[in-house]
Amino acid sequence: MNEQPTRLEGITVQSKILRGQRALVIGIANESSIAYGCARIFRQLGADLAVTYLNEKARPHVEPLAKDLGAAIVAPCDVGHDGELEAVFRQIRETWGGLDIALHSIAFAPKVDLQGRLVDSSAAGFKEAMDISCHSFIRMARLAEPLMHDGGTLLATTYHGASKVVPNYNLMGPVKAALESAVRYLAYELGDRHIRVHAVSPGPLKTRAASGLKDFDVLLSDAIERSPIGELVDIDDVGLTAAFLTTPFARRLTGTTTYVDGGLSIVA
Ligand code: NAD
Repeated sequence: MNEQPTRLEGITVQSKILRGQRALVIGIANESSIAYGCARIFRQLGADLAVTYLNEKARPHVEPLAKDLGAAIVAPCDVGHDGELEAVFRQIRETWGGLDIALHSIAFAPKVDLQGRLVDSSAAGFKEAMDISCHSFIRMARLAEPLMHDGGTLLATTYHGASKVVPNYNLMGPVKAALESAVRYLAYELGDRHIRVHAVSPGPLKTRAASGLKDFDVLLSDAIERSPIGELVDIDDVGLTAAFLTTPFARRLTGTTTYVDGGLSIVA
């Protein structure tokens, strides 16, 4: 691993504070993915990586990124397919024997349900969105628990639409609310094993998942206009905050939803 200080735009990170930490990152689709920003920062801070891709169609987009990051494990994982998440954790156990960090950066809802009113959402669409975007985080926690021998950090990605109505966020609002609540309950249940659980809540970012939301460009321009910092966040910003939450600097923090939004969420 390169021992030079890590240079990000505007800042230099001297530390390899995550050296020796083994991190699973689920949710890289391409180089715009929030999960990719997190994986890149984890790696730059010294972590070893396990990276997943959704399916064979996604593989050629994810594998080169995983290779650049020197990922020790690259495996398929559709959390909606029985056994695939379990297989990833089996591979982690066989390769590393343990795990320190697991990031869940995935969400899904059928387009017709995502783009319609919540009041019109189908039971099947709601159930699928909840399973992929929320319950799979609980399954991930269950599988991670026995591998986090010395404690660890579980991270989920959420959005402000969980607690306030954001026009066009629709059924993802209640789904993310459930995810944030799950983070608190998991933090409560796993705290005595020194497993800390966090939700990270980025401001709007132009990614593939976001492109499924109606009028997403309006959210982007609104974030620039109204946020105190007056700029969009990028995936490295999210990665830096996610990384912070995994370090001893955050060792007494758990169950929180941490915003990375340039302050947008404090403005009425
Ligand atoms: P993205 O499209 O890059 O990532 C979404 C990921 O979810 C993809 O890698 C996709 O393969 C994965 N996924 C979908 N269904 C899956 C399944 N069944 N099994 C496994 N993986 C599956 O978009 P992103 O914006 O980086 O999204 C990552 C997370 O960040 C999501 O939870 C999203 O809700 C959240 N988020 C995004 C924004 C934003 O503005 N982009 C803001 C706040 C929170």
